[in-house]
Parts: sequence; C-alpha cells; structure tokens
Amino acid sequence: MSEVLAIDVAVIGGGPAGLAAAMALREAGVARVVVFERETSAGGIPRHCGHPPFGLREFNRVLTGPQYAKRLAEAAKAAGVEIRLRHSITRLGAGGMLDVASPEGAIAVTAKRVILATGVRETPRSARLIGGDRPQGIVNTGALQAYTYLEHLQPFRRPVIIGTELVAFSALLTCRKAGMRPVAMIEANDRVTARWPIAWAPRIFGVPLLLSTQLAEIRGRTQVESVLVKGPHGPREIACDGVILSGCFQPASELVRGSHLALDPGSGGPVVDQIGRCSDAAYFAAGNLLRAVETAGWSWREGRRVGTDVARDIVSPAETPARQVTIEHAPPIKLVVPQRLTFPAKGEGITDYIQLRVSAAVSGDLVVHAGGQRVWRQRISALPERRILIPLSALPVPADAATLRISIDQAD
Ligand SMILES: Cc1cc2nc3c(=O)[nH]c(=O)nc-3n(C[C@H](O)[C@H](O)[C@H](O)COP(=O)(O)OP(=O)(O)OC[C@H]3O[C@@H](n4cnc5c(N)ncnc54)[C@H](O)[C@@H]3O)c2cc1C
Repeated sequence: MSEVLAIDVAVIGGGPAGLAAAMALREAGVARVVVFERETSAGGIPRHCGHPPFGLREFNRVLTGPQYAKRLAEAAKAAGVEIRLRHSITRLGAGGMLDVASPEGAIAVTAKRVILATGVRETPRSARLIGGDRPQGIVNTGALQAYTYLEHLQPFRRPVIIGTELVAFSALLTCRKAGMRPVAMIEANDRVTARWPIAWAPRIFGVPLLLSTQLAEIRGRTQVESVLVKGPHGPREIACDGVILSGCFQPASELVRGSHLALDPGSGGPVVDQIGRCSDAAYFAAGNLLRAVETAGWSWREGRRVGTDVARDIVSPAETPARQVTIEHAPPIKLVVPQRLTFPAKGEGITDYIQLRVSAAVSGDLVVHAGGQRVWRQRISALPERRILIPLSALPVPADAATLRISIDQAD
C-alpha cells in the first residue's frame, strides 16, 4: 500500500446522499470526513441530468442537475469536507477498514465509521428479455444522458420511451432539451407510475401515452425502425428510430455483495435499521443504495439524517442493542426499508417511515402484524416503483415483538 489513512468518517460515493451526509457530519463537529468518489467530479447522477427541477428542498430554488451537483459539492467543501475524486473503494473490511484504488496507488483507510452511498445502476437490455432485432438506438436512461449532456450527441430523433416512473420523465425532459421528439411513452400498467405533477408531462409535451401496453419486439436492421407493442386493442407497430428503456434499477451494491455485510435480497441493498446502520455497526448506508430509485431530494435528506445520526454515534456509540425487531414481508410486497428496527431507538432515523414497494399493481389493505396481532392497517392502491410509506410514529411495536410482518390483503 502506498498510503495509509486514518480518518473519522469515510463516505463512499459523492452523490446527493453522500455529500449531504458528509456535510451533516462536519456541521455536527466531526473532524475528518472524507468523501471518496470514483468519477472526476462530485455530484452523482444529477451531473448528467441537464434539466430542472433539482434543489428546491436543499437550496430553495430550481436548478438544473449539473448546477445542483456543483452547489452540493461546493457546499460540502465549504463545510470542510475533503472530497477525493478518482478514488474507488474496492473492498469493505470489518470495523471500517477500506481498500481504495487511486491514481497515486492503493490506499488503506481506517475509518471510525463508513457511510455507503453508491446509488443505483440500470439493468441492461440483455437482462430484460425483450424480443426482436439488435439494431443501434436502444439505450437506457443513463446512457441517454451521457450521450446528450456529456458527449452532446443525438442517438436518435424520434424514440419511444418504455416506462413512466420518475427516471422515464427525466429521459423525456432530456429528449426535449436535446431537440429529440419522443413519439410515445409506453406503460405496462393501467396508470402512470410517477405521481402528479410529473405524471402530466406527456400531456404538457404532447407525447402520446400508451397505458396497459407491453413492448413485444424491437425491429430494425442497423438502426431501430419500429417497435411492436401489445395493448388493449391488440398488437400495433409504432415507427420510431430509438428505444429508451427506463425502470429496472438496482442498488449499486457490488461492494456490499463482496463484503461481510448482510445484503437484503428484496431491496438489493444492505440490510439496515431505522438509522441506516448495517450488520457491522461501523457501517451505515443512505440514498438510492438502500432501494431503487428515489429522487435527489429524498436521497439528500436521507444522507443528512444518516450523517447526523453517525455523528451522534461516534460521540456515544450504541451499546449492544436491547432489542432487534425484524421486518418481514409477503408478496406482492417486493421490498421493505429498513429491514429491522433497533430499540431503544437512538437518533433521527433515515426517514420517519418504513418504505415499501410492490412488484405488481395492487389494491387492498396494507396490514402490519406483530406476534399474530394486527397493529396497523391502511387501504392502498399501489403500482410497482411507487413509494409506499408506513409512518413509524403511528406503528405501535409491542415490547415483546421480535418480528413485524407486513402484507397486503388484496381486494377482490
Ligand atoms: C438515469 C437517471 C436519471 C435520473 N433523473 C433524476 C431526476 O431527473 N430527478 C431526480 O430527482 N432524480 C433522478 N434520478 C434519481 C437519482 O438516482 C437521484 O437523483 C440521486 O442521484 C440519488 O443520489 P445518491 O447519492 O443516492 O446516488 P448517486 O447520485 O447515484 O451517487 C452515487 C455516487 O457513488 C459513486 N460510487 C459508486 N461506487 C463507488 C465506489 N466503489 N467508489 C467510489 N465512488 C463510488 C458514483 O460514481 C456516484 O457518483 C435519476 C436516476 C437515474 C439513474
């Protein structure tokens, strides 16, 4: 190893969650806080989202993604955070020992606490089982943004967008900004996944929205020429020159997978409690690594709260927890964050909620049981990818409960 570094807190990932956590730590008086970011600039995914709106929650103003990313990085530096760019963490070791690859060589880091904030990655076409040809012009949203904002290229002029969650609308705004005119947005469910006011974007921009419609085939020899979709009125061919695949995000949890930390198969991120603490008490997590995919503002707030809680934890470390309550869930619930609750609760918590997602459109009663007894219930109508929240303050957890079980009693 060329360098050995002993610090208070290492933050892995310089996106909104990591930068917010680092700032909160410095504001709470933690001396040496280092953000390790593998890219050449900090700010995470918003660096490639050249459209508004970012920053309302954080700076009380509407910014484009790059402006927002720049302001976050500047604010963190002004607060005394050390940001090390082109530094990739390659291994997580017990108790906060990290291996880092940097342009100057390998670094062995020892940190009192580590905050993981590595964000999300997209599922490529090959893993999505889409039929048809393999022409040029099929991209995921990350690639679209890299083409348009970083390389100033137009991979197509009239694409279709598959999906209607938050990031699909980010792709729609990206197309508009770069002079591309999407010919349709296609959604397998009977409702738009994103919520109001984002859900109005296709209408505002005059893009046909095809609900209850599946992408069956992509056609074209060299470049995409059309897509075959199957909707309520049968199959239909739509002429287009590109396909933007959105959705199917996964937490970027490669480091966690290769480590001693417990991984949650539902979320694809690390197992955490309500303050973001992982199975090794030196490690915490925040942002989209916890679950795919939330907004920048949401991830930023999670980062801040975890940073505040970690600062508190350094001053007065958690004793062996008196009680752990495991949160279980049943299909069609796909994921739950956090996956366990620690009592007595110390700190603010990543959010004030248990967050859920479902794997299929569902209506019914969302119910929470503790030891065979129902302790909470609420009627819901939910779509995959949509945020579902159970307020922790409204959830009575009996003193003898070891497990909370969350399920949905579906309406007929
Ligand atoms: C294509 C796309 C478009 C989006 N558009 C929007 C939008 O318009 N509005 C919105 O609110 N949200 C959008 N989102 C959601 C977006 O993920 C959040 O806005 C926000 O960026 C999440 O913050 P984060 O800090 O959790 O993760 P990220 O922003 O993803 O940051 C993670 C950082 O960790 C770094 N990293 C990862 N692994 C390592 C490692 N081993 N070592 C060092 N560094 C590492 C990465 O380089 C990255 O900079 C979009 C997401 C995607 C994928």
